[in-house]
Amino acid sequence: MSLFDQFAVIAEQYIAGLSNRAVYPSEKDIQRLNQLIEPLQDEPIPADHVLNLLNDKGSPATVTSTGGRYYGFVCGSSLPASMAAKLLAGVWDQNAGMYVMSPIAALLEEISISWMIDLLGLSKQTSVGFVTGATMGNFTALAAARHTLLKNEGWDVEAQGLFNAPEITVITGCEVHVSMLKALNLIGFGRDRIIKVPVDNQGRMIAEKIPVTAGPTILCLQAGNVNTGAFDPIDEICRKKRKHVWIHVDAAFGLWAAASEKTKHLVKGIELADSLATDAHKWLNVPYDCGLVFVKQQDALLGAVSASAAYLPENGKRDPFQFTPEMSREARGIAVWAALKSLGKKGFSALVEKNCSQALRFADGLRNAGYHILNDVVLNQVLVSFGDTVTTLAVIKKIQEDGTCWCGGTTWQGKTAMRISVSSWATTELDVDLSLAAILKAADEVISSKVKALDV
Ligand SMILES: *Cc1c(COP(=O)(O)O)cnc(C)c1O
Repeated sequence: MSLFDQFAVIAEQYIAGLSNRAVYPSEKDIQRLNQLIEPLQDEPIPADHVLNLLNDKGSPATVTSTGGRYYGFVCGSSLPASMAAKLLAGVWDQNAGMYVMSPIAALLEEISISWMIDLLGLSKQTSVGFVTGATMGNFTALAAARHTLLKNEGWDVEAQGLFNAPEITVITGCEVHVSMLKALNLIGFGRDRIIKVPVDNQGRMIAEKIPVTAGPTILCLQAGNVNTGAFDPIDEICRKKRKHVWIHVDAAFGLWAAASEKTKHLVKGIELADSLATDAHKWLNVPYDCGLVFVKQQDALLGAVSASAAYLPENGKRDPFQFTPEMSREARGIAVWAALKSLGKKGFSALVEKNCSQALRFADGLRNAGYHILNDVVLNQVLVSFGDTVTTLAVIKKIQEDGTCWCGGTTWQGKTAMRISVSSWATTELDVDLSLAAILKAADEVISSKVKALDV
């Protein structure tokens, strides 16, 4: 069998086995990974041996986040067309840095950019960069903001740096995502000098509490809180935007709500923002790693991250590296193109709507069983409490050990909760039924054993 025939067999087996195995690997399978820890041998070994070794030790120890019953964090899985396209792109091994290095990579970025702009209702002029994830999307957008705000003050930050530059005020909500803070500290704005605006019980920024500033200001909004799925009042805030304020929206998964008639009201006004960051590897169900940055003014993005002053090369083609901090990189546009092409507009809005209604089914099932849903389920995120902290943590542990599905714990405004994020194309109604039953069984066992312990 050729190496790639062998690969195809392994891949088929893995995918076919997804629904029959525990979502989280067993302790035994994780322990077996230690067999990979060895000194590098002297001699070369055949490629098929390497592949077999990886499959033998690695496959059983994977977390099946690409299956339909993984609800941890906000992840998404991989659409078959997108996964296959990414594998082919790996075979091609294209360098997506420049048009001349890979016309196909550059073209598929351009095509998917225009499709996304259309799908999301953004301005046609929007500039887009393909980065590793929303963290780098946030980072890149902040660089564009910094470039523009300081340029308006007569300061060339790319040439002169940040020392002695005019101050930029940075404002976020109190429920800002940790990755936004990371991006802010990487870019030199410092975590501790951020002004944090109070939020409501869903984590939405209270617009009236946003301070009015005089000098250059970056206001970071959020579309889709990682816990509740709630959106800041983007439209209301953007409409009051003043000239010296740059509005950025961390829309890591929430941006995709724009693709459905049922949820697009949540992102109303997003086209007014100066920049957005999102993930294709979350709700668009593109394999890792794939994030996106959208910047309304091309000069802002290129001014910040382009390597040269001459943006357009002689051949007049878009060079992808001008739009991202990276130079050589994988051809991320290929997997995005394939995901969009395979779903079409209707397929993608149906995916968003399916996951949202599945989230509601989880919430209803848990509420009907007497458990407390902590958030308004407006999107794909559900927060549930099973009682006090100890009980909730014990239920989460039991669910994870059971392996039917995987949900993680979180803290929501001081309360311990379990988070269910429904973000996968692969999640079926049966997956929801099985998972809900497993969750209720685990909760029941934890709570009845506690009652028994009290009896004695
Ligand atoms: C996931 C997430 C991020 C970070 O995205 P990465 O892809 O992990 O870099 C940022 N903000 C929000 C709201 C998220 O959900």
